[in-house]
Amino acid sequence: MKLIHKFKSLNYDKRKSKQISFLILHYTALPSIRDSINYLCDKRNKVSCHYIISQNGKIYNLVNEKHRAWHAGQSAWLLEKDLNSVSIGIELDFSPNNNNNKFSLLLIKSLISLLKYLKKKYKINKKNILGHSDIAPYRKIDPGEKFPWNKLYNLHLSYIPKKVSLNKLKKIRIWFKKNKIYSNKNKILIMLNFIGYDVSKSINNQSSYKSLINNYKSHYLQKSKKKYSNTKLFTFIERHFCSLLLTKT
Ligand SMILES: [Zn+2]
Repeated sequence: MKLIHKFKSLNYDKRKSKQISFLILHYTALPSIRDSINYLCDKRNKVSCHYIISQNGKIYNLVNEKHRAWHAGQSAWLLEKDLNSVSIGIELDFSPNNNNNKFSLLLIKSLISLLKYLKKKYKINKKNILGHSDIAPYRKIDPGEKFPWNKLYNLHLSYIPKKVSLNKLKKIRIWFKKNKIYSNKNKILIMLNFIGYDVSKSINNQSSYKSLINNYKSHYLQKSKKKYSNTKLFTFIERHFCSLLLTKT
């Protein structure tokens, strides 16, 4: 894997933690790799990432991994509130509204090599390879519904729930009943929160709840995005929740 060190961004500071445990994927939403590199290296923009991958698969290192690059912004996952301090940010040269509106094979091939390398180097759990849309579901939608998460699942570079027996699902249903949690929305919020999502804004705000659900779908259910009924979505989240409960690591 070749890394290009020709361009550097000064938009970084000191990590507040030595432990790197997340890899966060983004898209640039800019028309070209040149525009994106210029943007991420311009001090006035106060944003950056560690790596950016072009449509033709070139990997540029803009910020040294030991520094805290500024890619996540206000974000949260499980108990972690400062994702920039504990992650490596990877931007993909993709924009839904420009010519670079496809995830090219070369780009994905390089991304896979980079993820394999970083996952091994920092011993990152595949559950922690996430999109910006997962850690900031009310502000961000990248890497978006076209991003091929399925290619990453197949290579153990991202988490996908396993099949769970009906008996185990029943136990969860009984637990909800015992705790007097009856509405599907409340059950979904509890389960998504356990998975890692910040659900706080969704509790009393319907449009935030919609953003959360759409971002969940674009990561975990993207292929069947339109076909999925609410019941199927609910069962899938139940499976996800249950599958995590049963996974020890
Ligand atoms: Zn982003």
